[in-house]
Amino acid sequence: ILSKATDYLEQVYNVIEHRDPNQPEFLEAVHDFFKTMTPVFEAHPEYIDANILERLTEPERVIQFRVPWLDDAGHARVNRGFRVQFNSAIGPYKGGLRLHPSVNLSIVKFLGFEQIFKNALTGLPIGGGKGGSDFDPKGKSDNEIMRFCQSFMTELSKYIGLDTDVPAGDIGVGGREIGFLYGQYKRLRGADRGILTGKGLSYGGSLARTEATGYGLAYYTDEMLKANGLNFAGQRVAISGAGNVATYAIQKVTELGGKVLTCSDSNGYVVDENGIDFEVVKQIKEVERGRIKEYADRVDSATYNEGSVWSARLAYDIALPCATQNEIDGDKAQIVIANGAKAVAEGANMPSTPEAIAAYQAAKVLYGPAKAANAGGVAVSALEMSQNSMRLSWTFDEVDARLKKIMQAIFEQSVAAADEYDVSGDYLSGANIAGFTKVADAMMAQGLV
Ligand code: GLU
Repeated sequence: ILSKATDYLEQVYNVIEHRDPNQPEFLEAVHDFFKTMTPVFEAHPEYIDANILERLTEPERVIQFRVPWLDDAGHARVNRGFRVQFNSAIGPYKGGLRLHPSVNLSIVKFLGFEQIFKNALTGLPIGGGKGGSDFDPKGKSDNEIMRFCQSFMTELSKYIGLDTDVPAGDIGVGGREIGFLYGQYKRLRGADRGILTGKGLSYGGSLARTEATGYGLAYYTDEMLKANGLNFAGQRVAISGAGNVATYAIQKVTELGGKVLTCSDSNGYVVDENGIDFEVVKQIKEVERGRIKEYADRVDSATYNEGSVWSARLAYDIALPCATQNEIDGDKAQIVIANGAKAVAEGANMPSTPEAIAAYQAAKVLYGPAKAANAGGVAVSALEMSQNSMRLSWTFDEVDARLKKIMQAIFEQSVAAADEYDVSGDYLSGANIAGFTKVADAMMAQGLV
């Protein structure tokens, strides 16, 4: 039986690699996932008989489109838009839109694949999807952003719907962009508030959605620490990124008693031995849309350095990568471990390379994988959909309390799945197995579709 499971996993991986040899991020996500699936396929040969993995790794639908827009100088510009509708076994496709020059089909597919299991872990009825464009918002005017968003939505609106596909934000897409996208959707198809999540509070948004990913990461990490006799109090914490996830992780970790020493952007990082001041980061990034370097100009105790925060020699206990995929490779993971990290939990999607994950495991560093640790954002998106359907809105505390419960449940499910399949303490395998079995069982129940 053992060889049947491993043979099957290898066979399917080869099929995928043969189909999409030029999609390194997607192949990395699939490979990392398959590595944790052996015990499940040993115990459940029916999944092999149903060829569930080849079905799961092929998106239900991939939409690619031209996004023409006019820049401020009056020139016609063109970007490429994507929506990957990956899996709808447990609900409408749900997942963000990313605007970043690195966006291509491989990136959108890796994100969509991860989203399937993340969304299943939330316990809410949402399938997996992802989209975006290689448009670079950096240096664009408000009007250019608006014209791009309007053009993007003009095409995307044909493929989304309340019960089919509900996009939200991701890197490069925050409240401003969701507003422009929603305005255009409404103009074309009418005022379906549930069509996008992450909306502004005055037009159907949920309280605590902005904070949700960062807060959720802090709640999940707190659970993981407590399960191992630790907590945030007095711990030194390194955070990367300075976007929506990092900003609210800084706030909640500080509230829970941790001292956040760092945050960063793609140019460099700041270190503040007094603890990063969340209000200053929020002002620079959310209000002024500036660079994190400016933090050091405003706060006397802070210093700014160019390069990756994960290359810095600095003593800390907990690392929370909240920037982007593959930000920690094997070498940087060794630095993180040498710096004293006892726990790593992921606010970004796939921030650790396979070599980095192997390094954490070898050093017995507690490891909270992205699809569990950062699920708070999409969880509150699903709560936004519920509120929109009910035509009411919950208080901040009510949403926050639900978020906290969801993050606790995600951790508990991951522990239970890891115990059941004899990989106790491996929260990566636990999250993958718990997410996978939900989706796979829903797919099996619905026949070959
Ligand atoms: N982009 C976020 C994620 O990676 C949130 C998606 C959503 O809210 O739909 O999960």
